[in-house]
Amino acid sequence: MESSSGPRSKLLFNPYIAALPPYNAGMNIAVARTLSGRDDIARLASNENPDGCSPNVMKALASPSFEPWRYADPACTALRAALGEKVAVDPGLIVAGNGSEEMIAAISRAVLSPGARVVTTVPSFGLHEIEPLAVGAEVIKIPMTAEMGFDLGALETAIAAVPRIVFLSSPWNPVGPGLDHAALQLLIAAVRPGTLFVLDEAYFEFSDPGAPDGIEILRDSGIDYVVLRTFSKAYGLAGLRVGYALCSSPELAGVIGAAKTPFNVNGAAQIAAIAALADDDWMKASANRVRTERERVAAALAALGFQVAPSQTNFLFFGCNGDSARLAASLLGQGIIVKAWRESGYEHYLRVTIGSPADNDRLIAALQELAGQ
Ligand SMILES: *Cc1c(COP(=O)(O)O)cnc(C)c1O
Repeated sequence: MESSSGPRSKLLFNPYIAALPPYNAGMNIAVARTLSGRDDIARLASNENPDGCSPNVMKALASPSFEPWRYADPACTALRAALGEKVAVDPGLIVAGNGSEEMIAAISRAVLSPGARVVTTVPSFGLHEIEPLAVGAEVIKIPMTAEMGFDLGALETAIAAVPRIVFLSSPWNPVGPGLDHAALQLLIAAVRPGTLFVLDEAYFEFSDPGAPDGIEILRDSGIDYVVLRTFSKAYGLAGLRVGYALCSSPELAGVIGAAKTPFNVNGAAQIAAIAALADDDWMKASANRVRTERERVAAALAALGFQVAPSQTNFLFFGCNGDSARLAASLLGQGIIVKAWRESGYEHYLRVTIGSPADNDRLIAALQELAGQ
């Protein structure tokens, strides 16, 4: 395939990259101010932490141990040691990334080749599709059920057909539910040799007590797996870009490490992540506040007649009986940014992040007003 960047250009592009669907990123605050003519923007589209981050992080970044003029440790030795201790694994199984997003890209580069098959869900986290497509893989997407849950039977069948990779987020972005113990065990049991099972636990910390911990459950599974976790959500470090891949073997960690860029995690991010980990109490208190608000907002949306998916995350996904882009535009007029889902067949769904109580109140009041209540 030939593509050109202008009438006389002879440039050839990588056809897989040139054909990629766009990543549906949340609108930034400056753009929202311009479009809405308002200053007080409630940004409820990117699943950021309304509480900010631990004060430990700001202290660490102001300390002399942060030396911006130096290349940071490419192996993230201190961070991986701290993580290894926290989740009780050998740091040799951990690869730190420039966000867990980078690990999704590195896993795809490390494991896939053109024509390889990947299984994920729809609606999906954009990068679980985009990164495999970028290396020429074919992506099979298993739709959610009418009850807005995982279709376990269809997933089990698709996994047993030995795709090269399974990308599942649990708790599930954008829908919200998490796989329970039995469901996770069922899907793990369907994995055959030759398949890498990637469990993306970006929202793990927002799960209710008693929810399965993928790291513990996969440890003795005997399959090839990666668990992805991030500092972007519950720890509140989205802007610094740091996450990690916990791998089933040192060989797998080695090849994923080889597929990342060498100085991928910057010095500020490494220091901040270590400081955030040392203050788990802050994270847990924040996740508790989010859970409480999540239940309050879910009840208010249900009272307005929306079909709201059960959520173990810091967001809610609901059907809005019409094009969600129109509802999102109306909310933007009131200074509220939400995410209208754009995947084919899911254009009447909206995803809203749980924000501060005041921002959540604004969202609820705006929706009530639009509903004429
Ligand atoms: C937010 C999110 C990520 C994390 O991305 P970072 O690159 O770590 O900021 C990964 N997976 C899912 C499913 C997410 O929603």
